[in-house]
Amino acid sequence: MKAEIVSIGTELLLGEITDTNASYLASQLPLLGIDLLWVTQVGDNLERLRECLEQAWGRSDIVLTTGGLGPTEDDITRETIAAMLDEKLSVDAELERRLRELFSRLGFPMPKSNIKQAALIPSARAIPNLSGTAPGWWVEKGRGKQGERRILIVMPGPPSEMRHMWETGVVGPLREILQGEIIISRTIKTLGMTESGAAEVVKPLLSSNNPTLAVYAKTDGIHLRLTAKARTGEEADKMIAQRESEIRSLLGDIIWGSDEETLEGLIGALLLEKGLAIATMESCTGGLLASTITDVPGSSKYFKGGLVAYTNEAKISYGVSSSLIERHGAISSEVAADMAGVARQHLGADIGISITGVAGPAEDEGKPIGIVHIAIDNGREIRPILGQYPPWRHHVKRRATYQALFELRRLLVSMK
Ligand code: AMP
Ligand code: MG
Repeated sequence: MKAEIVSIGTELLLGEITDTNASYLASQLPLLGIDLLWVTQVGDNLERLRECLEQAWGRSDIVLTTGGLGPTEDDITRETIAAMLDEKLSVDAELERRLRELFSRLGFPMPKSNIKQAALIPSARAIPNLSGTAPGWWVEKGRGKQGERRILIVMPGPPSEMRHMWETGVVGPLREILQGEIIISRTIKTLGMTESGAAEVVKPLLSSNNPTLAVYAKTDGIHLRLTAKARTGEEADKMIAQRESEIRSLLGDIIWGSDEETLEGLIGALLLEKGLAIATMESCTGGLLASTITDVPGSSKYFKGGLVAYTNEAKISYGVSSSLIERHGAISSEVAADMAGVARQHLGADIGISITGVAGPAEDEGKPIGIVHIAIDNGREIRPILGQYPPWRHHVKRRATYQALFELRRLLVSMK
């Protein structure tokens, strides 16, 4: 099923409101296994709305609209759909009764203009609105020579009404139509390759329709999302497992986790399992590594603490060697290694991790923006890591943090 969203309202085009309805629906459709192919925003203008709806109706199996169901002159969604489908709008007696009842419950007479909210066309049935006055429409019709089934779902603009209607009056019937299809997804998380690099490696798998594979760049690396459709859950699981093992053999050890797993969660579990404690010393990430580690509940069981030493004086005051800083600069593998050792000893941990680099916006010590040295000291050996990230502060800090966690995970997995 191919779906399309049409968000209706001139306010959207003026930038006065953000199209949160479309983003909400976009997040919900994949859960039903429906592919969303287009999202359009259009103003409250009969001609342009009609053009937009005709295009959508002509190319999509499911068209979802929000907005333009109010009682005022500029709310013209119903009129436009009626014109497009060449059907007559008329007030439905039952809807009118319910609308009047709603107003009498609210304690004031129904304004004349609201009567249009009780209107239907022959191929529409009303979708109850449990939190507002405007019912939605569910329009189902054959279309084209083959008369394939097309569905037009018309919902109100106010986000809470729209969501409520979606949850109570749309998801159920849609599920029934899609019945018999089980959709299962799996996200494989990697770090160490660019989005295009990863896509290149899995290229032969990207053209598959079932399971589909999509590649996304996220702050904690590149995610690969597999989605399989099948008659039964076991069948879908099998399809996913098979494709996942192909991906695993293609990408190897840049894969660090899957689905809901996070790097900070995984290293936490590994540290607990091995009974080890860590400590950090950060320069360019300003404490982000410590902050991310402590996003995990219970991290006090394995995280001793973090030192943020931004200036050279601060580093030296904690015990980093001033002569190493003089000789190699603070942004160097030598100083990173020393910082990791200082963190480990100063805070009495088994493992120390350090980050020092150039977050920008200017270069430092003649070193380019985005150069980061990470070190992990486990008391026996020191693992140096050199990172080179896109030259934006925000990116550098996050990428360095996740790379440090990624390398720590690798080290922990390899430790017997
Ligand atoms: P309408 O049904 O077009 O009269 O819309 C009523 C109100 O709902 C608007 O004034 C907005 O505040 C809100 N709204 C309409 N469309 C959207 C949308 N696509 N995303 C978020 N809010 C919306
Ligand atoms: Mg409007």
